[in-house]
Order: sequence, then C-alpha cells, then structure tokens
Amino acid sequence: MKITILTLFPEMFEDMFRTSVIGRAVEKGIAEVELVQIRDFTTDKHRHVDDTPFGGGKGMVMKCQPVLDALASVRTDDSYVIMTSPAGNRFDQQKAHEFAGKDHLVILCGHYEGMDYRINSHVDELVSIGDYVLTGGELPAMVMSDAVIRLLKGSLAEGSAEEESHENGLLEYPQYTQPADYNGDRVPEVLLSGNHARIREWRILQSLRLTEKMRPDLYEKHELTDEEQKILKKAEKED
Ligand code: SAM
Repeated sequence: MKITILTLFPEMFEDMFRTSVIGRAVEKGIAEVELVQIRDFTTDKHRHVDDTPFGGGKGMVMKCQPVLDALASVRTDDSYVIMTSPAGNRFDQQKAHEFAGKDHLVILCGHYEGMDYRINSHVDELVSIGDYVLTGGELPAMVMSDAVIRLLKGSLAEGSAEEESHENGLLEYPQYTQPADYNGDRVPEVLLSGNHARIREWRILQSLRLTEKMRPDLYEKHELTDEEQKILKKAEKED
C-alpha cells in the first residue's frame, strides 16, 4: 500500500519511517511512503499557508487553496483521504485494519487552529486519535501510519500481531522474559512448564481478567467464546 502525508513539517517523519519495524517495512517496499510539503503549493510570494479567521479570534487557519491543490496533486481514484482532527471519528485497532486494506491512504495534517472548514467536504473521513488537542496532525499521522503498516503482511513475523491487545477486543496477557527469578519476583510457574495447552489456557484467562480489571468497557462488549467460558468456569471452581 501507499501512504501519502500532506504536511507543513515533513522533516518530522524522517526518523520514524527509517526506524525499527516501520523502517524495515518501508525498506522492503511493503509500504510506500510519500511526504508532501503543503507550502510548495502556495501561489503568493510569501508562501502563506494560513490566514486570520473570519469573524475574529485567536490563531491562524490553514487556507483552502494550498491544501486542496496539494491534495489534488496526489489523489487518484484509489485514494482514501483522511483529515486529522480532534473532531473526527476515533482511531482504534478496527480502523487500523480498515485503513490497512486501502491501496492508497492520504493523510492531511492540520496545524495552527486547524483547516478552513470548507476543506472537510473534500476528504473521505475526519479521524481523531483521542480526546485531547495536539499542536498538529503530524503525531496523529505517525500514530496511524505505524498502526497500519505493522498490520501489512510481511511487516511482523507471521501471527505475531494476532494475539496483541485489541485484536480480539481484549487486552493481551502478561509477558515475561529471562530471568525466571528477578530478585525474588518469579515468573508464573505455568510458563516454565513447557505444557502448551496449560500455557494457552493461562494466557486466555489472564487476558480476560486483565481486560475486566483495566478496561471494563471492553470486557462488557466482549462476547465470550465457548473456550473462554469453559476456562472462566474452571478458574472460578479453582479459586
Ligand atoms: N482548533 C482546533 C480545535 O479546537 O478542534 C484544534 C486545532 S489543533 C491545534 C491543530 C491540528 O492538529 C488539527 O487541525 C489536527 O490536524 C491536529 N490534531 C490535534 N489534535 C488532534 C487529535 N486529537 N486527533 C487528530 N488530529 C489532531
């Protein structure tokens, strides 16, 4: 897939697309990333991308012309255009999967007081990464690109994304590594048993209990599978 990011600060993305899992995915061509400087589309000699808001008020608003010309220069019939905005639909793992299925994702990054409202009608969706206000859309674009690219086939080892938090509506079970005893704090014995069936059962139970404790909202929404119901019943008897 291809991700195009329209921004006033393309340099902010350079490290992220060169580093770790995402850097390797880009290097291998699993994801193609294009960074577009919106300022290159200004037509006035001062290269203004923003202006004062009609009706007064503080801050500057990004102008239609450079943003929409930048968008037109990259948009194709296969493009799905999202605008980062605190007013958008909430980004979550389900949306990450949805976006990972697109051929061409275009992400518009606002800055200052945001974009002229008329730009909204030129995008497919407004997306927010949470109920807080950031300085610009660059961090949200990085968050979304990261979550999307790691889902693309070949980015991670086969199967390793499937058990992660939010994939099945639950949080992931606790993970441990060497040493088995860290200053008297021991790893649960079952993980050292080599009994894969018991380990699987333990992990499912921990995932359910952790979700119930940390994210009761998710737990309430989760439909228990037959296996999960059995594991919970068994655990209740043992408790
Ligand atoms: N005046 C706007 C408001 O009150 O809704 C906030 C503008 S914010 C300072 C500038 C830009 O940062 C926005 O246009 C958007 O691109 C991005 N942004 C800020 N918070 C965001 C969030 N939670 N999710 C997605 N984008 C966000």
